[in-house]
Amino acid sequence: MSDGCVFCRIIAGGIPATLVASNAHGVAFRDLHPQAPSHVLVIPRRHVASLAEATDAAELGALLLLAGEVARTEGLVETGYRVVANTGHDGGQTVHHLHLHVLGGRAMHWPPG
Ligand code: AMP
Ligand code: ZN
Repeated sequence: MSDGCVFCRIIAGGIPATLVASNAHGVAFRDLHPQAPSHVLVIPRRHVASLAEATDAAELGALLLLAGEVARTEGLVETGYRVVANTGHDGGQTVHHLHLHVLGGRAMHWPPG
């Protein structure tokens, strides 16, 4: 738990969130400001600031598997979806607790903005 971290507070139950799925390493919940018809965040239970600080392969693997589970439960597998980890300033990261965005329900653009 990192004091002042909004995602640690969601994990601790201090801030409400709409949970979608979870496993031993991570939790998935709906983004407060969805950028697609389906927009879910997958985060580690431990405070890890970003992908740049991540070192635990089992944890990262479990988060990717959880993203895949979210895509299945959201019904995105047939049409496709995007998994994004904004990292650092140029990556556009605004919450400094590692998270994977799982986005789907519409066609995505490339290159991203
Ligand atoms: P990023 O810009 O990649 O750091 O993404 C942070 C995401 O967290 C944004 O899409 C926000 O809408 C989302 N977010 C921030 N606070 C909350 C919250 N309390 N519950 C759910 N999503 C949140
Ligand atoms: Zn945190």
